[in-house]
Amino acid sequence: MTAELIDGKQIASEIRAEVAESALDLTERGTRPGLAAVLVGDDPASQVYVRMKKRACEEAGIYAPDMHLPADISQSELLDRVEQLNEDPKIHGILVQLPLPDPLDEAEVMLRVRPEKDVDGFHPVNVGRMVSGDMDAFRPATPAGIQELLKRIDCDPQGKHVVVMGRSNIVGRPVAEILSQKQPWANATVTLAHSRTHDMGEIGRLGDILIVAIGRADFVTPDMVKPGAVVIDVGVNRVDDPTREKGYRLVGDVEFDGVREVASWITPVPGGVGPMTIAMLLKNTIKAAGRFAA
Ligand code: NAP
Repeated sequence: MTAELIDGKQIASEIRAEVAESALDLTERGTRPGLAAVLVGDDPASQVYVRMKKRACEEAGIYAPDMHLPADISQSELLDRVEQLNEDPKIHGILVQLPLPDPLDEAEVMLRVRPEKDVDGFHPVNVGRMVSGDMDAFRPATPAGIQELLKRIDCDPQGKHVVVMGRSNIVGRPVAEILSQKQPWANATVTLAHSRTHDMGEIGRLGDILIVAIGRADFVTPDMVKPGAVVIDVGVNRVDDPTREKGYRLVGDVEFDGVREVASWITPVPGGVGPMTIAMLLKNTIKAAGRFAA
């Protein structure tokens, strides 16, 4: 069996087109959606992520002002800045790009974002609402994007065994939570595996759907995958590649060529989960603006 590719780039561009329509509709009704993507300092990866998010906003007709703050900003100045955005009627969504430079306290900054504007879904109020099954809560973008990918390939998790490898608060744990909820496009039996799990291969082979978010290049080999499984590879890892201009290439957590021969569907890296994360962030921004407009 050679797995079909789950084309996250294409699916994300469909979602972004839907977002652009909604943004236009809201703008015509007097509320142009606005997202503040706050970048503190000069971390190169964070700069790239924020630039991509801003560009995606602009393409979708979402207002996205520059929010670049110096690395030596004090905690209280940063909290004041967040407070101003909380009060700004042109801003409906706020995200603070992580990690923040030392010694800034990320948890305190996250707590200061108004839950109604927390489009990243990281505020404890939104986490709690999500865990209690409140479908109106903002869901973190990457896990929501994974559920959306499953929807768009018509793979209903209901009754299936989903194995999630990795239990971070931004990917593994929330995706396990979302897919086990008593909701449409969920209702799965979920196993959450991590670094203390004995025999990842044995656990992996149980998964009708295998979601891998651990951050180790080519960690999942074909023998760890149930034949016919749907494989979602969240990992983004740099490996040296002297044939590339940059000297490296990006690979996932799944050994793509081998696993493709075992799975029924598989996401590529890049071009799988990654583009969905931005698309779902834009979707959350529309949801936030829609509430303010109502
Ligand atoms: P993280 O916070 O570092 O968490 C990694 C998880 O993997 C932890 O739960 C850890 O277990 C587990 N783990 C690490 N090594 C393991 C091993 N050898 N065997 C079993 N489990 C192991 O990572 P993250 O933030 O979730 O990110 C994971 C990957 O996804 C990274 O490559 C990241 O770049 C990528 N990512 C991509 C997107 C996207 O939009 N495409 C978004 C977010 C993240 P413990 O809990 O026991 O330590």
